[in-house]
Amino acid sequence: MVTNSPVSRHRPEPAVLSWQQQQAAAVTDVGTLLQRLGLQAEQLDAGGLAALQAATAGFALRVPDSFIARMRPGDPADPLLRQVLSMPAETLAQAGFSSDPLAEAAARRAPGLLQKYQGRALLVTTAACAVHCRYCFRRDYDYAADSSAEDAGRWDTALAVLAADASVHEVILSGGDPLSLGNARLEGLLQRLEQLPHLRRLRIHTRSPIVLPARVDSGLQQLLAARRLPLTVVVHANHPAEIDADVANALRALRDTGASVLNQSVLLAGINDNVAALQGLSEALHAAGTLPYYLFLLDRVTGTGHFEVSVARARELINTLNTRLPGFLVPRLVQELPGHPGKTAVDLQVWPGD
Ligand SMILES: *Cc1c(COP(=O)(O)O)cnc(C)c1O
Ligand code: SF4
Repeated sequence: MVTNSPVSRHRPEPAVLSWQQQQAAAVTDVGTLLQRLGLQAEQLDAGGLAALQAATAGFALRVPDSFIARMRPGDPADPLLRQVLSMPAETLAQAGFSSDPLAEAAARRAPGLLQKYQGRALLVTTAACAVHCRYCFRRDYDYAADSSAEDAGRWDTALAVLAADASVHEVILSGGDPLSLGNARLEGLLQRLEQLPHLRRLRIHTRSPIVLPARVDSGLQQLLAARRLPLTVVVHANHPAEIDADVANALRALRDTGASVLNQSVLLAGINDNVAALQGLSEALHAAGTLPYYLFLLDRVTGTGHFEVSVARARELINTLNTRLPGFLVPRLVQELPGHPGKTAVDLQVWPGD
């Protein structure tokens, strides 16, 4: 065997990118995204690329390659594409839609600390997300008001408020996406929370395992497995095509840490407002060790009106799911209404013939 000939020398395999590299390499440009999928801007809007690009003005486009890889090339109606592609409809003002429809500003107890419900407080840990979802209810959230930026002391006030309030039993890490933080910072925060004797549970709300499954790395698995308090991880997927083999493995890895793994979705027009999508999503999640939790009606944030599904249609979908799936695979259809002491159920059980 010729070992030293330059011709026969083995080329190194392309390195698998870390999640940080994948996150940094996310597509942020409409033209690049469409090019990857072999689409012309005119297939999406008569205004072409300029119109799609203009819609990113208030909220940038951001989508990692691993999510693009799950979209169907050449399909302008792809349900994953539609979740991330900026559309001119976002720039239309609509009655009933506002920048803070959930009155989060009024629920702010400290920078980055929201509390609306008894016993549960929500920590806005970071503004960053691996993906930008066009329907996001915090697309207009004033993250800048929450922090002295990314400095080490950013959670001090929130933690002091939590330490002084024994009525809080659960802290939910939210954002943004708390898994945008590195493992060391995340572990440091969880350790500080676990020092509070009145906390009984921890929760992490994250879309990262779905859009960037490489985020569930061995360091994350170790730190989640090492928790003193019971941990629930609530992921966020809306359509069964989001659950490919890598995502299923990431979800199983999360569950194998001992965490309870649940999913919440938003009911979105043109994306998952049909029985097949919702049934397929519950089944794909279950096969990966994840149970459905909530199916949210859209929060009425400015620029998201074209995603709204009527309450009547939402009930019809849930009623049909109830006839096709075991109860534990039917998410609870809820709405978040400002001033209410918990999520508001909008299910209405109706059987044909009743
Ligand atoms: C949704 C939400 C929670 C969590 O509600 P659960 O019903 O416990 O899942 C907690 N705090 C705030 C501010 C929320 O918006
Ligand atoms: S991941 Fe969550 S917080 Fe981030 S843009 Fe999507 S819906 Fe909003």
